[in-house]
Amino acid sequence: MDYIKTLVEEIHSTTVATIGADGHPQTRIIDMMYYDEKGIYFLTAKGKAFYAQLMEQQYVAVSATKKKTAISLRGKVKNIGKKNLDIMFEKNPYMKEIYPGDTKEALEVFCIYEAQGEYFDISNPSNIVREAIIIGGGSSAWNGYYVEKGCNGCNLCLSVCPQKCIDISLVPVVINQKHCLHCGRCAKICPGQCIKKRG
Ligand code: SF4
Ligand code: SF4
Repeated sequence: MDYIKTLVEEIHSTTVATIGADGHPQTRIIDMMYYDEKGIYFLTAKGKAFYAQLMEQQYVAVSATKKKTAISLRGKVKNIGKKNLDIMFEKNPYMKEIYPGDTKEALEVFCIYEAQGEYFDISNPSNIVREAIIIGGGSSAWNGYYVEKGCNGCNLCLSVCPQKCIDISLVPVVINQKHCLHCGRCAKICPGQCIKKRG
């Protein structure tokens, strides 16, 4: 919930991707305006191609960044009509100027209710931080590298790791997922090919 709060209240403006009618990805900037225990809420006008794509695909990918941190999500979205529209206008007063009076009738609310993703922080470049984010029934977002049996503790992997995030006090050695860049250098150098990629 901390990362969702950051996404809505601090980053706020995000890039949201859907698939266009031509079959290619399309992105646009969308403000994430509200969240609760059920998901993250945004709105769009019924006349937009984006609205039609959301209704048809019911799936989005979201990326946003601020101050060398980033949040990305992908998952299911559903239309909830006018529900939460008033509270979204209250929390985002600029919307009253974009859609004054009853013109907000053109808008409907969507909820990202089941998603997976990650928080990525490079504000300390020599100690990056990566955390999984799960909304609703989304499955684990971890898709990085891990060490299988066969490791002999030679430590070659640590020698090429840019973040030095491999614990060599254990055999098999253990990759600290929270600080891994997913660069793959460890897997490439491992003589026993016992570092694998998940996902
Ligand atoms: S390079 Fe491979 S065998 Fe050597 S410590 Fe790393 S994982 Fe184990
Ligand atoms: S994938 Fe890159 S950052 Fe992650 S443990 Fe391997 S070498 Fe280090």
